Amino acid sequence: MNFDVERYRNDFPGLNRSIYGRPLTYLDNTATSQTPKCVVDAIEAMYYNSKANVHRGVHTLSQEMTMLQEAARERVRRFINAYSTEEIIFTRGTTESINLVAASMGRGFRDGDEVIVSVMEHHSNIVPWQLLSLNGRNITLRVIPMDERGVLDMDAYRTMFNEHTAMVSVTHVSNVLGTINPVKEIAAEAHRHGVPVLIDGAQAVSHRRVDVSDIDCDFYAFSAHKMYGPTGVGVLYGKKSMLEKMPPYQGGGEMIAHVSFDRTTYADLPFKFEAGTPDFIGIAAMHKAIDYMESIGMERIERYEKEILDYATGRMESEFPSLRIYGKAPEKDAIVSFMLGDAHPYDVGLLLDKQGIAVRTGHHCAQPLLESLGLEGVVRASFALYNTHEEVDRFIAALHRIEPMLL
Ligand code: PMP
Repeated sequence: MNFDVERYRNDFPGLNRSIYGRPLTYLDNTATSQTPKCVVDAIEAMYYNSKANVHRGVHTLSQEMTMLQEAARERVRRFINAYSTEEIIFTRGTTESINLVAASMGRGFRDGDEVIVSVMEHHSNIVPWQLLSLNGRNITLRVIPMDERGVLDMDAYRTMFNEHTAMVSVTHVSNVLGTINPVKEIAAEAHRHGVPVLIDGAQAVSHRRVDVSDIDCDFYAFSAHKMYGPTGVGVLYGKKSMLEKMPPYQGGGEMIAHVSFDRTTYADLPFKFEAGTPDFIGIAAMHKAIDYMESIGMERIERYEKEILDYATGRMESEFPSLRIYGKAPEKDAIVSFMLGDAHPYDVGLLLDKQGIAVRTGHHCAQPLLESLGLEGVVRASFALYNTHEEVDRFIAALHRIEPMLL
């Protein structure tokens, strides 16, 4: 397809680094993506010229920074097609977004309630729900199984609801298998039972167009650092009707209407959930990152990455009889987790690094998934809009070099 990847690569000066004298081949985009110059320049400019706390001052700098932050909120709203900016809450990232929902919604859960998750969840969509059992209540996780391709068993899912089901919380895209889950169907089924739905969008938003109104989820969580943006910033989308009913998550400045020692009233949405000084420069930089992705086009990014995925998968499968790929869903993002024979993933990762190739090894914060596969870890190569066919070639050549060393 017509995708000027070399032009986009120039936007990422960090990709020009060399590692051990070899050109960097960055294939760890699932963990975090690199950041384009326009985003870093914007951060620098804001630190030098516009740094002032938001929603607090009458002075020009504060008003400017407030406008930048609120413009970012509108940009995020438009990016995911939410109904209102009241539904866009800024957080530290996906993890905090999920913790916010679990802590706030969870206050209303009763002993014996159940949360439906899937077997392919990241720890950040498992542990926050387990924490709800700490205060004497017993909250149980019900786990949607998958088949050998890594496709969720929707028939099993449909049988999991009962009068104790309090929440469904499922990832949009698996960070290990790459599976794109049928989140619209998952949400519709939950709503048939009157159960709210959270979708963990950490691995989705930078790879395809996400439309929360179309999915009709109650909550959607994601992180800026995985979408070419800054670290330490993320978003929780929540339906206004849900957020209005929920108690605040943290207390502090910004989230109040009036405070006295006897009684405090809370600010309106979205500020009710934004206690303390937010990372306003990070938030405004996320705006730039969204503009950057949209200037290329989410549909084009999706199509290009699929091409890279198919190319990498094809070569890995045809050239290495000992190589086993985990995750073969028909709907799949550009993530390839694999084992090279019985070589330890850590050894594979280290030897690839010596050739300038950055991949991830280990359990990828999805230990229950890895256990269900009978593994302790896998090697994961994950791709972004700036990865090239030549980089795949380099990766394959490196695997050819290390295979005889390890097997
Ligand atoms: N969910 C998924 C599917 C992820 O891949 C990740 C990051 N690896 C997270 C949640 C957590 O994101 P963060 O660390 O940015 O909060």
